[in-house]
Parts: sequence; C-alpha cells; structure tokens
Amino acid sequence: MGGGMEPITEDDAFIASALERAHLPSLMAALVHITGDASHVNLDYPLVYEQLSDMQGGIREADRQRIRERALEALRRLRDGEARDPSVPPADVLRRMIDVVTGGKVPERYAPFLMDELVLGERTTDALASQLAQRGSDGFRVAIIGAGMSGILAAYRMEQAGIDYVVLEKNDEVGGTWLENTYPGCRVDSSNHFYCYSFAPNHEWPQFFSTQPELLEYFRRCADRFGVREHIRFGTEVVEARYDEATCRWIVRVRARDGGEEALTVNAVISAVGQLNRPRLPDIPGRERFAGPAFHSARWRHDVDLRGKRVAVIGTGASAFQFVPEIAGAAESLHVFQRTPPWLMPTPHYHHDVPDALKWVFSHVPYYDRWYRFFLLWMSTEGALPAVTADEGFEGDGRSIGAANELARKAMTAYIRSQIRDDPALQSAAVPAYPPGGKRMLRDNGLWLSTLQRDDVHLVTEGIESIDERGLRTSDGHHHEVDVLIYGTGFHASRFLDPIRIVGRGGVALADHWQGDARAYLGVTVPRFPNLFCIYGPNTNIVVNGSIIFFSECAVHYVLGCIAELLERGHGALEVHQDVHDDYNAMIDGANRQRAWGVPQVDSWYKNARGRVSQNWPYPLVEYWERTRAPARDDFRWTSPRG
Ligand code: NAP
Repeated sequence: MGGGMEPITEDDAFIASALERAHLPSLMAALVHITGDASHVNLDYPLVYEQLSDMQGGIREADRQRIRERALEALRRLRDGEARDPSVPPADVLRRMIDVVTGGKVPERYAPFLMDELVLGERTTDALASQLAQRGSDGFRVAIIGAGMSGILAAYRMEQAGIDYVVLEKNDEVGGTWLENTYPGCRVDSSNHFYCYSFAPNHEWPQFFSTQPELLEYFRRCADRFGVREHIRFGTEVVEARYDEATCRWIVRVRARDGGEEALTVNAVISAVGQLNRPRLPDIPGRERFAGPAFHSARWRHDVDLRGKRVAVIGTGASAFQFVPEIAGAAESLHVFQRTPPWLMPTPHYHHDVPDALKWVFSHVPYYDRWYRFFLLWMSTEGALPAVTADEGFEGDGRSIGAANELARKAMTAYIRSQIRDDPALQSAAVPAYPPGGKRMLRDNGLWLSTLQRDDVHLVTEGIESIDERGLRTSDGHHHEVDVLIYGTGFHASRFLDPIRIVGRGGVALADHWQGDARAYLGVTVPRFPNLFCIYGPNTNIVVNGSIIFFSECAVHYVLGCIAELLERGHGALEVHQDVHDDYNAMIDGANRQRAWGVPQVDSWYKNARGRVSQNWPYPLVEYWERTRAPARDDFRWTSPRG
C-alpha cells in the first residue's frame, strides 16, 4: 500500500530539498509529534486558506524558512538516533494544533469528529470492531453485495469484528466503478490523499488526482491486504433477497455465470452496489439504428480504434469532460453534443504528478500524512457549501440563488470566458445558465476549453432529434455524419439497487415500496426491510464537499453499531420506525431545497423522476459523522425469531 513510515537515511541536503515541497501547516503539526515541543505550532497570526490557491495558509516567508529549518533539524536528529520516539501529544495540545492548522475556525462541536478523523490512535470504529470481536458474533452472518470501494470497506470491518460474511460480486475482480470505468482520461476528482480509506493511507499516489488504473490497483491491494478477497464470490450476481419474518433471516438468491442459482441464508444484507453502475442511454429516436460502433463511457470499447474516425460524443458531464480531451486529436473529427455546459472549478494541479520529494515527505516524516489528510478533510467539511446555499428573499434571474452563489457565478464565468479566444458563440455556449453547484462542478486545468477550440473539435448545442444508421440529426435540421458514437450520458442513479429484487416484511418489494423515490434513514435503513443496510444509499452523495469514502466509512460504522446492538440485546432484527424515517427525510428534503442542486430550475441525476433530490447530502460532513456514531435504540423496532 505504501502507508508505513520508513527510516531516514538521506543526507541533510536531500532532506532540505524535500521539505521545500512540504505542506507547511501539516509539517508544523508533525514537528510537535516528532519533538514533543508544542511551540512548533506557534504563529502570531491565523492561517487563512484561499480555496484553490494558497494551501500554505498564508504563512509568511520568514516563517516558512524557519519551519523548514526546524524540520530539518528535527529530522536530522531522528535520523542520527539523537531524538526521542515521535508520539501523540496530550489532548489539549492536539486541540491547539487543530486550531492552528484550521486557522482557529473550529467550533467546539467539531472537536470529537476531527480528533477521530485525525487517525492518531485507536478510532471509534476500530474500538467498536474489537469489542465485537471479543464478544463473539453468535454465528451472525452477513452478505455484502458488491466488491467496490464500499463493499471492500464493509468486508474489512466485518473481518475486524469477527463477523462471518460473504461478498457477492457480479464482476470477476474488485473495484466496482474503478474497474468498470476504463475510458481514456478517467481519474479521481477528489484529492487522492483524502480519497482513500482513512485506515489505509497511500504515500505513493503518483498524482494528486490519480488515474483509474492507480485507483483500481489501490482497491485490489486493499482487498488482498485486508484478507477479504477469499470471502468474495466473483462472477456472482444477486438476483433476489427475501426477508423471512419467522426466522429474521434474509434468503439471498444468487446466479453464477453458468446460470446456476443458489440460495444463501444470512442475518443481514449490506448493499454496497454504488449509485453509478447502471449506464443510462438516452431515449433518442433511432438510437438502435446507428450502424457503426456505439458504446457508453462506462463500457468503453478499447477494441474500437478511433484514429482517423469521425466521432460523436453525447454529453458533457464528468465522464465526457475527462475523455473528450483524450480522444481529440486521435479522431479525424470530434462532434461534442452538449445539452448543458458544466461549471468549471479552477484546479491548476489537476493533472500534476506528486513530486518524488513530496512522496518522500509522506513516507519519512512521522505524522505528516495524518495532518495532510486532516487538512484536506477540514477543507472539505463544508467546502463550498455556503456558496451553493440559497439566501432567503434573494431576487435574481435564476442563474444564482444567493449573494455568495452569485459571486461564485461571476468568478467562474470570468474564468471560463478568459479561456475563450475570439468566439462569441462559444463564449455563450460554455457558460452555464444554472446556478453554480446545481450540477457537479468539474475540476479544470484549462484542458476542456482548449480542446473545444481545436479545429478538429466541434461543439454542437442544438438538441439531438434523431439518430440513424450514419449519424445524428439536430433540431436545426443538420445531419452530422459520424463513424463512432460514444455516450457520456451518465447512469440510472436514482434506481438504487436495481435490478435486484429485494422483498421485505409483509412481502413488499423495495421497488414498489419506493416507487421510484428511494429514501432511507441516514441513507442506510428502510422501514419494512429489517437488517437491510445500504452503504452509499439515498442522500449520501456529495456535490461540493467531502468524499464518498468518508460517507461509506460513516455508514459502515453505523451498521457495525446496529449489529453490536442486535447481538447485545439478543434480538434477531431491527427495523427503523416509519416516523423516524419520515421526519429525517423531511429534514433532508428541506435542506436540499436550499441548495443549488435542489432548486426547481435545475435538473440533474441528483433528482429522481419526481423531482426530489434523492442522491445528495445537504449538510457539512460533521452532521453525518455525528448522526452515524451509534444507532439510537428508540429509532428501531426490535424483533426476535419466532418459536
Ligand atoms: P452525468 O453527469 O449524468 O452527465 C451526463 C451528460 O449527458 C450530461 O451532460 C447530460 O446533459 C448529457 N445527456 C444526457 N442525455 C442527453 C441527451 N438525450 N441529449 C444530450 N445530452 C444528454 O454523467 P457522467 O458524466 O457519467 O457523470 C456521472 C457522475 O459520475 C458524476 O456526476 C460524478 O459524480 C461521477 N463521476 C466522477 C468522476 C470522477 O471522480 N473523476 C468521473 C466521472 C464521473 P444534461 O446535463 O443536460 O442532463
């Protein structure tokens, strides 16, 4: 994995040059661990981070020099065996360190959350898992559906807690979305040193936002290292899960590649199927008539050579945004069909490599990695939430929903326009008319708009009316003849768990229960579906803050807590009360309506067919962390097997 500390053997000159690359607030905090001297975080001014520009918090030049010199001295002593072992300072010092690194902005409420997320010792989830392991699981058995990021995570925690489990995976390898999306240019767009498991840091990320093969390799290594691979049944699709009230058990019917079916009996089902794994093809008349190769971004046809071909791409969402620049130039011509332009978030280092010197810092400076992850977490606990929130009484033309949102709109509009040469049509086509944050904002280093301005790339903004054997016809009557058609049209995100048939208490099917409007309590549990737990379930996706791994870790912690309670109380099943679930969802809906993605003028995959935001979490991260610490007994109906 590359998450351990290595001994320092390099000379002073090497260390000094490596420290030039270090994130100084993280380095200051690391110095306290290394030396035991709390004065290393003393600054007589607060750090202020300009999102996206100064990540050093405005540390003054003289102080930068001083911090690096002190770090060199401390590391030299560590190397030469003259220093004590690095350690974790007392809680009051840690609290001060947190205050300094965050610029003194931490409300008291955040302290337990941040302390836990600093990953300095045994964390709440580790403690819970060890308690369960010591207690024994009384034969409790769990089926986990999916071996992607959330499934591996759930399996790891079951392993830790000594709970018997099986992972059912339709593919032949782990990785989920990182296995299936192999399109050119596919990469993570959350900072990689935060987009990894909190308990499995990787000091070797090659880039700040690494590419898909790196992500897939990371999850493969995790599955091996955690010992979960041998519990995974690959090539096994779950067809149905049916709850048996008499025994408080789930009967899970699976189908192997050869069509053979089998039923497994378990106490609980954990769904870790993700939100974005069923490709969505648009309902454009004639779609099936196209004679050339046609495929979806998540089913990339690597056997189709695009060189010298006329290629059409439908969609300008996160996927197309990444693969269009990669295939431009190879194709003879590229027509990009855009219905709605994306907002672009300036990220100059989006494609940058992590310098070797910085990788050295990660793997040789004790505790630096924890504080850097902590810093990224802090920057994303609220992220841009205030800027995508509606102001009461704000009057505008619908392109923004509040004063901060309007400022963001102006800044990003200027950013987009500044990149467009003399092309009034593109100037207008590239600027979204919906509020920033309405759809996912895309990290940009200038590549998107430079690609759209290539001579061999044509942006088409007229609606597609039909597809025929040889191309696409747009609303202006123009026929665009192409050889290859690529759909970057997203996924059936709001059809949670589709197409698995889940049948709960009283024989009700989950699809009928939800009727296209998936909801869950904390994104995890659903009334009438006892002991069914969803990870990355309804309303746990984020738009401008956090990472999905954070949400999955919280949800899995909560599930462990539920299992612990069941065992402790000697019950067979728990089922969330309908009113608890409904009140919670009313609260979530109210908050989502105040966010840019929830306002009526915006339509995206975040909303289901009924117009409800069924995907997103509308609050800062601390809120989800707090709510998932432990199941409240009164939230549930507890039952035991009959007889
Ligand atoms: P998406 O965001 O749903 O984008 C689909 C695109 O297809 C949109 O531009 C949409 O236009 C367009 N479209 C759909 N039907 C159309 C039609 N009939 N005619 C013309 N255009 C049509 O899908 P995605 O790009 O695959 O991304 C989905 C999500 O996956 C992202 O939001 C993100 O969460 C995740 N993702 C993440 C990464 C990453 O981390 N690096 C990369 C890729 C994807 P409208 O906007 O007008 O609907």
